[in-house]
Amino acid sequence: MRHSIPKFWRKREGYYQILLTRCKTCGRIAYFTYIKCPYCGSGDVELVRSSGRGVVEEYTISYYRIEGAEEYLPRIIALIKLSEGVKVTGELVDVDPSEVSEGMEVEAVLRILSSDDPHGLIYYGLKFTPIIKGS
Ligand SMILES: [Zn+2]
Repeated sequence: MRHSIPKFWRKREGYYQILLTRCKTCGRIAYFTYIKCPYCGSGDVELVRSSGRGVVEEYTISYYRIEGAEEYLPRIIALIKLSEGVKVTGELVDVDPSEVSEGMEVEAVLRILSSDDPHGLIYYGLKFTPIIKGS
């Protein structure tokens, strides 16, 4: 699958970190970046970087084939509540599907998302991996 390199470059900030918008008026935090608070409409907002840590609330196993990422099947797609209180969807890695559970603590890690072809560009982004206690 050929990606648009300029499009990927423009969105790179969101691929390599989890950006949130904190409203200085109502205090709420929203996932991703806004110039106005999606809850109260205030323009007094600031971008904050998520800790990348959270808890699995729900998850599903996907066998849907994505061109350029066929080798990563099956994929575990989870709804994750970040420590900042917002929910995001993400892929879980480094864990067998039978070992995933609701309430599992996870953290964001940089991984390959897909590649154009064996000699093409490789695209990286964030996935989530279980936090191993005591390490
Ligand atoms: Zn607000």
